[in-house]
Amino acid sequence: MNDFNLLIINWYRQNKRNLPWRLTKDPYKIWLSEIILQQTKVDQGLNYYVKFCNNYPTIQDLANAEEQQVLTDWQGLGYYSRARNLHTTAKTILNTYNGTFPNTYDNILKLKGVGSYTAAAISSFAFDLPHAVVDGNVYRVLSRLYDLDTPIDSSEGIKQFNYLANELLNKKHPAEHNQAIMEFGALQCTPTNPNCTSCPLAQTCLAQKKGTISQRPVKKSKTKVRNRYLHFLHIETEDQIIITQRTEKDIWQNMFQFPLIEKTSLEELSLVQAEIERTYNIKISDVKSNIKHILSHQHLYTTFWKTNTIPEKIRSDKAYFIIPKEALTSYPIPRVIDRYLEEN
Ligand code: SF4
Repeated sequence: MNDFNLLIINWYRQNKRNLPWRLTKDPYKIWLSEIILQQTKVDQGLNYYVKFCNNYPTIQDLANAEEQQVLTDWQGLGYYSRARNLHTTAKTILNTYNGTFPNTYDNILKLKGVGSYTAAAISSFAFDLPHAVVDGNVYRVLSRLYDLDTPIDSSEGIKQFNYLANELLNKKHPAEHNQAIMEFGALQCTPTNPNCTSCPLAQTCLAQKKGTISQRPVKKSKTKVRNRYLHFLHIETEDQIIITQRTEKDIWQNMFQFPLIEKTSLEELSLVQAEIERTYNIKISDVKSNIKHILSHQHLYTTFWKTNTIPEKIRSDKAYFIIPKEALTSYPIPRVIDRYLEEN
């Protein structure tokens, strides 16, 4: 073990959080945790991990579940393609690998929804294979330790950081090493205000010496954000509510939502209301407007238009479902609608 390996593992043993997926070698449970934690904070992901382990104790249970149920259990976590990939991959493992999780990096990487980071995480955590994980935490730690200014979202940067991470990997203990460097990034070498004063690597940290910590890591591009203007029609009678299923290969694919009118720009609300009332021959009784919902590549501006009349146009269209109000909880619906219903 070199100094870096020793220091980081010692730090980890003293500072690590107790997280349930660190107590198992079961590749299914580790895979579950990794998919849940993509784009989700540990605190929030924890409850979902416990829920999925309880509801689907084995990969067979997950593969045999209805997609709608999996999406409903995922509700609130967002980025629903992860849940769909989870379900598809469980079926693949059942059918192609006879229910046994693949145990090589290359076969794990072939699974839907699994990229090089997740494949390295499962390979090392479950099978002790020597593959270094390179996630946002690792990029940050390495770019500071070595004061690297290659953009981490360039192909050159990806190659360079992967090479370095694998050079540094403790090949005898890849699982603990990978956990250690990610945890170090999450708790010690944080994006803002890293705890440099009590850092065991401070002596060798080049960014600390050169005063470049706040400029590391370097990113090439800002993500392009698309604005969308969604107008939902909340049709609710005394005991019924109207929903429809999204079929587009888009956000919330296969989930259920209120009838939707999407606009390409922010329009004056009185004009939108007049258009809705005219198109559906109804009266709007209430409106909640321009609730902003931020996704990684999209900003959604949502407006909810409430009415207690079921328009004929919708009643006669098979794309819409008139369901009892209390049945709504058994349908997977986007968080933005769920939150609106909670607050109204
Ligand atoms: S000294 Fe500061 S910037 Fe450098 S590794 Fe430690 S915490 Fe990160």
